[in-house]
Amino acid sequence: MRETIESQLYSREAIAARVKELGQQLSRDYAESEPLVVVVLKGSAMFASDLLRELSIDVEVDYIGTSSYGDATESSGHVRIVKDIGASLQGRHVIIIEDIVDTGLTLDYLLRTLNLREPASLKICALLDKPSRRRAEVPVDYIGFSIDDHFVIGYGLDYASRYRNLPYIGVLKLEAE
Ligand code: 5GP
Repeated sequence: MRETIESQLYSREAIAARVKELGQQLSRDYAESEPLVVVVLKGSAMFASDLLRELSIDVEVDYIGTSSYGDATESSGHVRIVKDIGASLQGRHVIIIEDIVDTGLTLDYLLRTLNLREPASLKICALLDKPSRRRAEVPVDYIGFSIDDHFVIGYGLDYASRYRNLPYIGVLKLEAE
């Protein structure tokens, strides 16, 4: 496959402005509670580290790792937890931080699994949403940007473990050589 970065979708500045707005919204909505923020590794790490610094409230932060079997650009729906959260969720207000919601299968699995641990509430904050690709209905409570059906890289998102370090979000074009 030949890979080309076809275009830049969101600049570093546009991302920073939207992340700041999301941080303000979360700070308002969770002003009365001390939520547990669960960061889904690895793609959300950059988004989460910027978002957390925009919060003006006290939070606890933990990390969860998932893996899905499938090809490089498509989720298979067979999700498993490869690194679990250390903190207890019982009675806590929990916010899941995700990089992108595509088919929704990963979040659907996470929501069902984490809801069994009896949190007081469980909400999702995703940087990107691709609603046209949805196969499982998941409520995404906070969305950075809603995008068309592109495969995107950068700002934490990878293709074959590359591009995570780009400061912007770009569209990757894959062509057979
Ligand atoms: P879903 O289970 O919603 O189909 O996919 C969730 C995961 O697939 C995301 O957390 C992300 O890791 C990966 N993914 C989905 N769409 C994209 C994309 O456009 N670019 C990249 N780099 N990863 C994606």
